[in-house]
Amino acid sequence: MAVLTIQNLETSFSVKNTRLDAVRGVNFDVPERQVLGLVGESGSGKSVTMKSVLGLLPANGCIRGGDILFQGRSLLRMNNRDKRRLLGNDITMIFQDPMTSLNPLKTVGFHIREVLRRHQNLYGSKARDASRDVLEMVDIPDAEARLKQYPHQFSGGMLQRVMMGMALANDPKLLIADEPTTALDVTIQSQILALIRRLQNRNHMSVVLITHDLAIVYALCSRVVVMYGGRVMERGLRNEIFHCRDQHPYTRALLASIPKVRENEKRELVHIRGTAPSLSELPDGCPFAPRCSHVRAICRVSFPRETRLSETHSIHCHLFGEDR
Ligand code: ATP
Ligand code: MG
Repeated sequence: MAVLTIQNLETSFSVKNTRLDAVRGVNFDVPERQVLGLVGESGSGKSVTMKSVLGLLPANGCIRGGDILFQGRSLLRMNNRDKRRLLGNDITMIFQDPMTSLNPLKTVGFHIREVLRRHQNLYGSKARDASRDVLEMVDIPDAEARLKQYPHQFSGGMLQRVMMGMALANDPKLLIADEPTTALDVTIQSQILALIRRLQNRNHMSVVLITHDLAIVYALCSRVVVMYGGRVMERGLRNEIFHCRDQHPYTRALLASIPKVRENEKRELVHIRGTAPSLSELPDGCPFAPRCSHVRAICRVSFPRETRLSETHSIHCHLFGEDR
């Protein structure tokens, strides 16, 4: 069964009395115990989609349509008390910049105890013991001393470990990680990713990993959802997205733009021509049409319906539709 089901999600912002549609009919499932990679260029709607799930939209944002189900229950129809209990307990998150998520005037131990108090009702020595366990779970040595330190005394990688520990302290069923390693250098990045994978395995949880980095997706994710212009362009198993002959032109362009590191070979960096559209000038039809090398007249007027290529693989592209 799916842990999370996103059905026809529509999320908009209101800016100067204009409606900007950031997420336009997004559909996908996050299966139990799997890591799903949510990819796409900047501005494609990845964060807004997951913020809609978490109820973290800014004041000018609203969900206009669709539904979000957690283990079959609608988060949009749930009362606030049940929702609060779920978020932070069964669904937790980590973000790109751990520094901004912590209060610089409070110790790391304070932050961890706060999570344990709020969601597990742990106080006093029980909370202290459990917070030591949290740091040990994420491989932070000398936990006792570390708990007494302040966020600025931690490196970026260490702090991201702390955030992971806090996110996993309550044994969630779903972890949402939004660019968790973008701010870190590559060696630390791979340590954090290895940690995510190890804890995902150990805790049997599902993870939604939002990232620009297709190499990370390839290494970590069993499912992939490719977004562009607020829409899902393609989704499927990792190998269907990376290795299938039938690929969305946008996915193909994304994959072609990964730089390859090879000795004795100088290749030009490939990039997707044009830039991602801003929300106020999204074209009718397929948002990728203005940049697509296979564009046809119909692409500019209607967004293609979903074509199923397999039970798990589906694509929105007129090249694959009925009228191909
Ligand atoms: P990135 O990779 O840069 O994080 P993303 O795919 O996560 O990109 P989102 O943050 O989901 O992109 O943004 C989707 C669109 O919604 C963007 O065009 C963005 O400008 C717009 N947007 C996000 N927040 C707001 C807001 N509060 N008001 C207006 N527009 C917004
Ligand atoms: Mg984002």
